Amino acid sequence: MEYIDRYRDPESIERLVAQIRAISRKQAKLMEVCGTHTVTIGRNGIREILPRHISLISGPGCPVCVTPVEAIDRAVALAQKQDVTIATFGDLIRVPGSETTLLRQRGEGADIRIVYSAYDALHLAQEDGGRQVVFLGIGFETTAPTVAAVIRRAKETGVRNFAVLSMHKVLPPALMALVESPQLGIDGFICPGHVTTIIGIEPYETIADDFHVPCVVAGFEPLDVLEAVGLLVRQIEMGEARVEIQYRRGVSPDGNPKARAVMEEVFEPCDSVWRGFGLLPKSGLRISDSYADFDATRKYEIAPVNPREPEGCICGDILRGLRQPPDCPLFQTTCRPDSPVGACMVSSEGTCAAYYKYYRR
Ligand code: SF4
Repeated sequence: MEYIDRYRDPESIERLVAQIRAISRKQAKLMEVCGTHTVTIGRNGIREILPRHISLISGPGCPVCVTPVEAIDRAVALAQKQDVTIATFGDLIRVPGSETTLLRQRGEGADIRIVYSAYDALHLAQEDGGRQVVFLGIGFETTAPTVAAVIRRAKETGVRNFAVLSMHKVLPPALMALVESPQLGIDGFICPGHVTTIIGIEPYETIADDFHVPCVVAGFEPLDVLEAVGLLVRQIEMGEARVEIQYRRGVSPDGNPKARAVMEEVFEPCDSVWRGFGLLPKSGLRISDSYADFDATRKYEIAPVNPREPEGCICGDILRGLRQPPDCPLFQTTCRPDSPVGACMVSSEGTCAAYYKYYRR
């Protein structure tokens, strides 16, 4: 058996579902925070094999989705500058801003390149010293350390035509906003394995201790997610609220101090706007003064924008778990992956894109 097959084995999955059915009595609303979990759940029909009184709702764990319209507008404004090359991950160029997308700007002549890592963007700057390269820094604690390391490398090697527009976010403040929301009533969190690899489990302890909401850190295979559901259900049935790690093969309780150190050297916490949540204190990462030369917001004047959400799109409610994609009148009619109206339909990890792929009627 291949290593990964263990986590996809149908007999193990059936056994686990039977165990969950045997112990589960209470209604339980569990949020899978991460878009990768949403995809695993959809692809493997996990919602359908669980007892009906266990509901899985999707959360804000897709970085493209939570990037607000005003951030896209700022990226568009940068792309419109004559001497600037924008380097970005692919998904972001399709996210609608107030007036346009980066993709449309590229069609109109803006120099926008798709890269697969921040290092690619730095190489682009090193290869073409005549252009200013701005990398669109997006992602949670999983991505931010790599971007920080690239900024540090740019400084060490004296690259002068490279900057980052930091749209990075950190996940714990969003989770706090969710547990503090009385409307939602989340009974447990399936926490993201990869983010926890960096931050460790300490940030979840407040959620478990102060709000009595259990948290289980899960891997990304179907058996991982089901095991996490089983652990959460067990805690809920016993009236407990602890932080547990299902994804022991990837996560240590302390996370990765080295990765956090480079992140803390290059970035500092800042208040940040999230799509659907608004301004969350200390939920973003801006470039610190020591690396100011690589901060696109200080290097370039970016005109203030009046952000405008796409009409009819309910991405904000979806990201907070208040509504599901089929509740949106535009879902699978006007809004499809090939013509997304909102951010949640753009990224393959967006909740609407995942529902379109796996639950379309
Ligand atoms: S279906 Fe489209 S328009 Fe509706 S919430 Fe999702 S992304 Fe927004």
